[in-house]
Amino acid sequence: MSDYIALERRYGATNYAPLPIVLTRGEGVWLWDDQDRRYLDMLSAYSAVSFGYGHPKLVQVFTEQAKRLAVTSRAFHSNTLPPFLARLCEITGMDRALPMTTGAEGVETAIKCARKWAYIVKKVPRDKAEIIVCEANFHGRTSTIVGFSSEAQYRDDFGPYAKGAFPAVPFGDAKALAAAITPNTAAFLVEPVQGEAGIIVPPEGYLTECARICRENNVLLIVDEVQTGLGRTGKVLAIQHEGVKPDGLILGKALGGGLMPVSAFLAREDVMGVFKPGDHGSTFGGNALGAAIGLASLNVLMEEKLADRAAAMGDYLLARLKTIASPVVTDVRGKGLLVGIELDPAKVSARAFVETLLKHGVLSKDTHGTVARFAPALIIERQEIDWALERIRAALREYGPVYERAA
Ligand SMILES: *Cc1c(COP(=O)(O)O)cnc(C)c1O
Repeated sequence: MSDYIALERRYGATNYAPLPIVLTRGEGVWLWDDQDRRYLDMLSAYSAVSFGYGHPKLVQVFTEQAKRLAVTSRAFHSNTLPPFLARLCEITGMDRALPMTTGAEGVETAIKCARKWAYIVKKVPRDKAEIIVCEANFHGRTSTIVGFSSEAQYRDDFGPYAKGAFPAVPFGDAKALAAAITPNTAAFLVEPVQGEAGIIVPPEGYLTECARICRENNVLLIVDEVQTGLGRTGKVLAIQHEGVKPDGLILGKALGGGLMPVSAFLAREDVMGVFKPGDHGSTFGGNALGAAIGLASLNVLMEEKLADRAAAMGDYLLARLKTIASPVVTDVRGKGLLVGIELDPAKVSARAFVETLLKHGVLSKDTHGTVARFAPALIIERQEIDWALERIRAALREYGPVYERAA
């Protein structure tokens, strides 16, 4: 075993079980380990590295801004935060933005905003506000958020939780949402595609229908695009596939350009308007360096037309994966460059499969025991996808014969 792995096992907490690989450098979609072996990264840090490792423009902004001014706190203004907020609102079509650092903090901000809006504007009785969530959701790991996870391991033993604060409905079922709404419902919080749940794409028209139901009931529609946002699914925002305009929007991961934690909660004027000075904050949220990187990330996304690239490359990856006939693959699905292969758990666990993929030089991550996910940086080239497909086929061959299906 590598000394690094032994050292981490000796001193680290055991809340992760990383694949047995020690990474030392990255460039574009490629990573190298401590033996100088090269891997194609098909995870991109769960979409946090959507623009690839060491993007020259992002690294330049990062180093220049780090030398000039990095962290000042929001006790003062900076000259990088305002242009970042303006560009965020311009690109997403939202009125106002509140910067945070991690995705979970963005979600927490959304929850606080929705609740205060419910009490101040909708006149829900104090402490009665409900936020409807979806089963199998993933919104982060704070003690409030895990309270409405349907994953026992994420939730159990970390309570107690407030009863009735987050009623859950099945994902993809707009009728269930309509039935769950009460006079105390503040918001509906939803991922446009459920990533951690195993790349679950809802039926077409689902989000449009949810938006209509929310509007008719004076309920805020809040979309968590921490993973699906910023080009990942083939549009700048995944909700744009249906032309839906939410009342609240959470971004994170890729917003930090793979260099820093940068997240944001964005909302309609009257919704964000409930926050008064002192209501909410974060020491690092909106810091000068993070804001500069956030703005540079948005600029890279737009200038390099990465949403269109994700659409084209994602269609290609999905179509090619669908031509692979293997007895262990039961489904291939996704949107843009957010793709999952469902494996037959009787034949191979997703964890064993991603370890086999690692051996073949492709980095991926299992989710929910049966799904291997592929979400490479949006800058991936067709030849690199072909390279990955060859290795995926080789990995599958270890579990049985692999045939080509007609495209
Ligand atoms: C990753 C993720 C989060 C949490 O983000 P962190 O930066 O890990 O706190 C929230 N929502 C979704 C949809 C995510 O994928």
